[in-house]
Amino acid sequence: MLDKKVVELLNQQINKEFYSAYLYLDFSNYYYDQGLDGFGSWYKVQAQEERDHAMLFLQYLQNNGEHVVLESIDKPAVKITGPKAVLEEGLKHEQYVTSLIHTIYDAAYAVKDFRTMQFLDWFVKEQGEEENNADTLIKKYELFGDDHKSLYMLDSEMGARVYAAPSLVL
Ligand code: MG
Repeated sequence: MLDKKVVELLNQQINKEFYSAYLYLDFSNYYYDQGLDGFGSWYKVQAQEERDHAMLFLQYLQNNGEHVVLESIDKPAVKITGPKAVLEEGLKHEQYVTSLIHTIYDAAYAVKDFRTMQFLDWFVKEQGEEENNADTLIKKYELFGDDHKSLYMLDSEMGARVYAAPSLVL
């Protein structure tokens, strides 16, 4: 049996990851509306990844014989003001998710729940990559976003991203 507080936080994280998927679908829709289909596609793939994260938390709880509680998912709450602002909101959101993962890690550490800590290690690393990706996108937009030709090239590059299942298997 896992610690009650740890289970509660893992349960909440399922909801947070599905919310992330919702938020990124909202970003995706915005870019499609703007005619930036590559960016739209990139965020659609990102939404699929977030759904995978939710499923990993769900599976981990089930593997440990814990009851899973599904709460309602909030409407995406970020106000979209422009193509670059979306990328900045994306970075902010990933920094927030990192803090959530760290909070769960803290709770697991406090009760010497080494199994959950090991499970979360993958997410700690993943969050480093997510923040780095989000930061890189902002930098690329700053470099190429103002010129139509280079924005077209960047959009094409973004559109080349293909979905890959997570490397963590439970
Ligand atoms: Mg995630």
